[in-house]
Amino acid sequence: MTASFVTRKTCRLCHSDKLTIGLPMQPTPIGDNYLTAAALQSREEIFNLDLYLCEACGQVQLRDVVSPELLYPAFPYVTSVSVGLPEHFRKFAGDLMGEQGIAAGSFVVEIGSNEGPMLRAFKERGCRILGIEPAAEIARAATAAGVPTLPRYFTPELAREVRAEHGHATVIAANNVLANIDDLDAVMEGFKLLLARDGILVLETSYWRDVVGKGLIDTIYHEHISYFSVAPLHAFFHRHGMQLIDSQWNSNKGGSIRLTVQWSGGTRAVNPSVARQIALEQREKIHALATLAAGRRRLNELTGQLQTALGDFQRAGKSVTGYGASVGTTTMLYELKLGSLVKELFDDNTRKHGKFSPGLHLPCVPAGNLDASRPDYVVVFAWRYLEQIQKKHPRYGPGRGHYVLPLPELKII
Ligand SMILES: [Zn+2]
Repeated sequence: MTASFVTRKTCRLCHSDKLTIGLPMQPTPIGDNYLTAAALQSREEIFNLDLYLCEACGQVQLRDVVSPELLYPAFPYVTSVSVGLPEHFRKFAGDLMGEQGIAAGSFVVEIGSNEGPMLRAFKERGCRILGIEPAAEIARAATAAGVPTLPRYFTPELAREVRAEHGHATVIAANNVLANIDDLDAVMEGFKLLLARDGILVLETSYWRDVVGKGLIDTIYHEHISYFSVAPLHAFFHRHGMQLIDSQWNSNKGGSIRLTVQWSGGTRAVNPSVARQIALEQREKIHALATLAAGRRRLNELTGQLQTALGDFQRAGKSVTGYGASVGTTTMLYELKLGSLVKELFDDNTRKHGKFSPGLHLPCVPAGNLDASRPDYVVVFAWRYLEQIQKKHPRYGPGRGHYVLPLPELKII
């Protein structure tokens, strides 16, 4: 039997052993492992979720890496329809090709390509495309729908195979992928084997400055082993003979950065955005232990406020439920100590219905029940989607019940 997790001794980006615990978190079970009634009796393993700071390069990271077999069980594939996404990707593909001089006919590869909406946008503009997506059923569906996709993990070996068959890639994209990968040197090795001399990497990942600045604890869970920022990545790319040439912030996932990288000494000019973002990170000291400690204090305050408010409601005989049964909900329930204060979790995802939350075993019920059961208070764990939730439940709200927003600060409406 293999171990359920391994503990790293060195920084994932720079290999320094100066890893210091900076923001201790409540340990939790695997956050998305919602349980059937039959599984409630089985033992659930709890894993460390403390955030460590590399005092050499500033990278924030988990040290314990939970085994991928436990983190990524094969769920049955359900087609998702995300309205508006294709338009977003069309604009992205158009902008990137214009700004970075990517010609039609170029070869574009995406790691973690999912159903392939982004690649489809490049195909529309005349590019050759290839997706790499380890979830086999999704890869099969994408291929059938016109986005050729390999059901594989991206490794240096795979990069060699792709290069042999298709030639070098002019664009390699990886969105929300790097934070989940332990061996980033191997991924870089693969990128370098596949990337053309005039090619670019386009990477998007959630941004540590937003996580610590806004207390976005729902982005902290075991799949996310890295919490990236620009300065540590700039040094990491440099060590690999690559050069960060652009850094743009966007609001995805509460705050993300999109980075563009070329070979060191490449023909593209370095955008001032890179120096500007690194200067901002230094000015705000987002890589300082004191900043992580302040983040911890802020969480303690929020936990205290929620305990007081929800405790009062409970003592007054009011009903309190939750909305949203995601991986981030588990972190929030543990961190904010809400397990005994929230009765059940509403969620739209039919896969969650009839199941129980990891560790704390709160029952998950259809979100449609909200209007009928009309609890006095609903803690919105899916706090980013409050507007959509309010629209979906026009009969709940003022006069009938209250939404409790736990993040980014406590708000009762
Ligand atoms: Zn480091």
